[in-house]
Amino acid sequence: MSDLPNCPKCQSGYTYEDGTMLVCPECGHEWTREEMAADEEARVIKDANGNVLNDGDTVSVIKDLKVKGSSSVVKVGTRVRNIRLVDGDHDIDCKIDGIGAMKLKSEFVKKV
Ligand SMILES: [Zn+2]
Repeated sequence: MSDLPNCPKCQSGYTYEDGTMLVCPECGHEWTREEMAADEEARVIKDANGNVLNDGDTVSVIKDLKVKGSSSVVKVGTRVRNIRLVDGDHDIDCKIDGIGAMKLKSEFVKKV
């Protein structure tokens, strides 16, 4: 099995190596392993305990959180399923039962 990564642009698995470059024959994207490592590092989002979070994880809220623009509060212990990691200050996109779509900060959740 090859250890070449899938194309970051189109997810093609037909990546090949050309010198120091990785090349995707399907969309023509070229990149380096260094670029890829940097990308991955930037995307690591950790919970309050330092565990790495991934898309689709279930987390639990570790403190009461006010919902912006409403009087609702997300109570400590609330389980949030199927999170989606996003860029920004609030780095978790999710939907909470009874509240709806909202964004959370990873520092206020822990992986379940
Ligand atoms: Zn590609």
